[in-house]
Amino acid sequence: MAALLPGAATLGVLGGGQLGRMFVHAAQALGYRCIVLDPDAISPAGAVAEVHIKTDYLDSFGLAQLARDCDAITTEFENVPALALQTLAGMRVVAPAAAAVAVCQDRAVEKAHFEAAGVPCAPHAVITNDIELAAVDPALLPGILKTSRMGYDGKGQVRVSTPAELAAAWADLKRVPCVLEQLLPLQRELSVLVARGADGQIVHWPVQQNLHRGGILAVTEVPAPDVPAEVDELAVNAARQVAAALDYVGVLCVEFFWLTDGRLVVNEMAPRPHNSGHWTMDGCEHSQFELQVRALAGLPLPEPRQHSAAVMLNLLGDLWFTEQGGPTPPAWDRVLGLPGTHLHLYGKTEARHGRKMGHLNVTAATPEAAHAVALRAAALLGLPTDF
Ligand code: ATP
Ligand code: MG
Repeated sequence: MAALLPGAATLGVLGGGQLGRMFVHAAQALGYRCIVLDPDAISPAGAVAEVHIKTDYLDSFGLAQLARDCDAITTEFENVPALALQTLAGMRVVAPAAAAVAVCQDRAVEKAHFEAAGVPCAPHAVITNDIELAAVDPALLPGILKTSRMGYDGKGQVRVSTPAELAAAWADLKRVPCVLEQLLPLQRELSVLVARGADGQIVHWPVQQNLHRGGILAVTEVPAPDVPAEVDELAVNAARQVAAALDYVGVLCVEFFWLTDGRLVVNEMAPRPHNSGHWTMDGCEHSQFELQVRALAGLPLPEPRQHSAAVMLNLLGDLWFTEQGGPTPPAWDRVLGLPGTHLHLYGKTEARHGRKMGHLNVTAATPEAAHAVALRAAALLGLPTDF
């Protein structure tokens, strides 16, 4: 495919959330026009794109308009109906491909892909019927029962300790297909972002360290402190291998558990830019969104050099509520008085508990300095300072 040259092409995005918004910003910086398809009349990406098609993801008129007016199309969330991507792929360049996204939509299929790619994941069992439920190896307990499909931010997950709890939890989850994963002793959580071009070239960003609170990403730190070189190398190679085995085109994030015994296992992957990669917007020569644009347009993919140590704090809607009530915006003026702070808000009109409203990147010349400022920012915002 010939590259879609900046300033002379239109890029489409399925989904109007914050990832779509930051993709659109990066695409527009390069001179592309953008069209977002999202059924919501008001959406973070729809508000910044040149055109917002407000139809359902499977609406044939909406998809036809997107295909007619765009040169290439991507998705910003993995739960987009695979059929929408397939339909578009018949007409336009689509990346990532429907087949790769479909693998990421189903935990059981995703785990099978990791194993086929030779990358170890958590010991687990697939539960789709009573026979499989009864056959679960008790060694997997205590474990986490996760719905195979539609889970995000820890939703659709139940911790279980006994076979009776497992059976009850599966009944609570309406007996939808699930994966039971052994609860692993985590030392840290890490992730690696790669970008792969249609020609097979792969570049990667440095290993990221992630702290979750209540199943939602809270803090990402890069470089990941004190990660041994061999763990670093294992993570990068595993992410590259997973992307290559999928014949993936675009930015892919692979999440890992680094266990207390030193082993590294893969948790899951996301077929798109990822929350743990938001620091790249300010800490790297090329952000994950810029390389998603470049991969989609068939442009060269540079090795994304990190120029600053970075800490990212996720900003959830909870910050808008205080003991006095709310919603009221946090004291951004004070936070932005700290050195190396970069605020990114997603333009969401309503703050709600647990809703991702934005993120704050803190950059500095050294990891220690970035960490120290991030702690001060967290304290100003009333966030935990447990990192
Ligand atoms: P997202 O897609 O938003 O990253 P998710 O809902 O798909 O999240 P997971 O990544 O599967 O959820 O799990 C969320 C968090 O729960 C993990 O980041 C980790 O902190 C914890 N967790 C999940 N599985 C395990 C496990 N097998 N052992 C220990 N902790 C786990
Ligand atoms: Mg996850």
